[in-house]
Amino acid sequence: MNRIVSSEANELDNQIELSLRPERLSQYIGQHQVKDNLKIFIEAAKFRQESLDHVLLYGPPGLGKTTLANVIANELDVNIRLTSGPAIERPGDLAAIVSSLEPGDVLFIDEIHRLSRSIEEVLYPAMEDFCLDIVVGKGHDARSIRLDLPPFTLVGATTRVGSLSAPLRDRFGVLLRLDYYDEHSLIEIVKRSSKLFEVEIDDRAAEEIARRSRGTPRIANRLLKRVRDYAQVIGDGMITLDLAKQALELLQVDRYGLDQIDHKLLRSMIVQFNGGPVGLDTLAASIGEERITIEDVYEPYLMQIGFIQRTPRGRVATKLAFEHLGYTYYDETK
Ligand code: ATP
Repeated sequence: MNRIVSSEANELDNQIELSLRPERLSQYIGQHQVKDNLKIFIEAAKFRQESLDHVLLYGPPGLGKTTLANVIANELDVNIRLTSGPAIERPGDLAAIVSSLEPGDVLFIDEIHRLSRSIEEVLYPAMEDFCLDIVVGKGHDARSIRLDLPPFTLVGATTRVGSLSAPLRDRFGVLLRLDYYDEHSLIEIVKRSSKLFEVEIDDRAAEEIARRSRGTPRIANRLLKRVRDYAQVIGDGMITLDLAKQALELLQVDRYGLDQIDHKLLRSMIVQFNGGPVGLDTLAASIGEERITIEDVYEPYLMQIGFIQRTPRGRVATKLAFEHLGYTYYDETK
């Protein structure tokens, strides 16, 4: 389903995101700890005229991992090659990519947790010693030859750092976790994007959009784009607070950034299961969704804002969730 508040990219996002992507660290808003660390590592690598250590970026979708990989390459003044775990099917695919890199280049592998084990094994010596061990010939005639590679920086991105094999994770020198953005950073992102869209927005409207963006720049930009359409058709093009509220009502995104699917999930927990605890599989069956979709897509943000808690006996809807949906909360333990 195409949700306006989904943090996964859709085709339309790909078109707008290219034009909104920050290119330098100074334009990359928020994530201060990540930026401060990167700044030092990048400066040091440039000073030593060496390639930057391999970097692993992890965190929920839409928080700017691909953007940051591009920023790293720009700051290092090198080229970037972009690929993804599922796109590298055979060891030969990886060999073709790494052997075409220039010294110091960045190789970005999105969804790196989805690399197969056989590809990972080709990657280890490439990361560690900048060489490839390739097997040529078959059966008795098979022999391994070693191919030297230019030094490069692998930037891996993943939403599931726990699914990465330990040997692969250990080969990254820099591990950086991207967190949901605070409201202040999202307001800045909305204002920056409005400028790039050449649309006027008042401060309170920017705050309203930021508040409903689930801590995620991708969603902030998507909501902004829809509100802009509304402003151009219904209003005079300027985004005011009233207009932003009307547009967001119409999009059925509530003041916490929750949509109908979040409401359905929470209502099911509250009405059918008395607020829980309820097991993930039972919950998935009750709302007709896959377990993994709930785990990866719906639940992380609901946990982040304190609407759902994970307990050893299952998921529990909190007092905040009851109240937000208009139900009376009673604590059975009292
Ligand atoms: P996925 O893992 O789903 O590909 P991602 O984490 O790689 O997502 P990006 O594609 O990098 O996310 O970011 C989505 C959009 O959000 C970008 O086009 C960019 O416009 C915006 N964005 C992300 N981070 C920032 C930031 N720190 N400052 C300004 N804009 C940002």
